[in-house]
Amino acid sequence: MSKFWSPFVKTLVPYVPGEQPKLSKLVKLNTNENPYGPSPRAIAAMQAEIGDSLRLYPDPNGERLKQAVADYYGVQPAQVFVGNGSDEVLAHAFHGLFQHGKPLLFPDVTYSFYPVYCGLYGIEYETIALDQSFQIEVADYDRPNGGIIFPNPNAPTGRVLGLSAIERLLQANTDSVVLVDEAYIDFGGESAIALVDRYPNLLVTQTLSKSRSLAGLRVGLAVGHPDLIEALERIKNSFNSYPLDRIAIAGAAAAFEDREHFQQTCQQVIASREAVVAAMTALGFEVLPSAANFIFARHPQQDAATLAASLREEGIIVRHFKLPRIDQFLRITIGTPEQNQALLDALSR
Ligand SMILES: *Cc1c(COP(=O)(O)O)cnc(C)c1O
Repeated sequence: MSKFWSPFVKTLVPYVPGEQPKLSKLVKLNTNENPYGPSPRAIAAMQAEIGDSLRLYPDPNGERLKQAVADYYGVQPAQVFVGNGSDEVLAHAFHGLFQHGKPLLFPDVTYSFYPVYCGLYGIEYETIALDQSFQIEVADYDRPNGGIIFPNPNAPTGRVLGLSAIERLLQANTDSVVLVDEAYIDFGGESAIALVDRYPNLLVTQTLSKSRSLAGLRVGLAVGHPDLIEALERIKNSFNSYPLDRIAIAGAAAAFEDREHFQQTCQQVIASREAVVAAMTALGFEVLPSAANFIFARHPQQDAATLAASLREEGIIVRHFKLPRIDQFLRITIGTPEQNQALLDALSR
């Protein structure tokens, strides 16, 4: 703390990201990165951008990327917003769409950045308890609110909601924005982007960090009614006109165009997830049904923090949250078959 800080900085409680260790020989299953590399076409497109053109500013609107996303989802570019990671897109949404003097609603067990943005932008919030099976019960959101946000699949539980449940939520909350954070949708859920033409209160965010294996590039996006997108553009153009650099725009657009690499790597992760779930269940773990690239599991006899520490001693890092309701769970990213085997071997020991 220092006298030079604006007073409100003293009240901020920042997000704590998962550890990014310097040691490369660790089996890193703690931050839900993709174990497979990005699309070779994305890498080639990024390499082609490195040259004299870098002396020029990038396209402030990232039109090439918006078009690639619009083509992929069958929407208009005016329904697409792009930003520096979906965390930035989410920040703009909190800032531009959730400040209505009524509480924002989100699950009690969810992405821990949401309360951080509420703190940053002075947004009041209420958490809604997941049910006994750690699922979102949409009827529980039937109360006055200034917006609703949840990840689908939810993080860190991995549980997914179907589009009919999301439609019920949209129909019951026509006066507020419902933001569906689809960071993990490609690993087993149905995207709510299919609903944006019918629900002007729906905003869907996605990231290239997980299913497109570009966490290091920092690209995220939102799809929704052009009026919602315009709010995000107004914030973005009042904050940073060039959130995406030339390399990111080229790489992200090419990643969306390379459907084959995307589908193949997603299928590999899904197949590995099913194998890990079966093996961990056989070891006595209770594993929540997962539609994501991670699983959320607890063992009835083994303390989660102790397990995480023992795994770490064997060079395997997983995520443990010291939070109410979930402090006996581990969140484990699905890795390559070799990494998953190392995990299972260590857990059997
Ligand atoms: C990873 C993640 C994000 C952030 O993604 P970036 O695009 O890397 O900023 C957003 N929401 C959830 C639920 C996530 O797990």
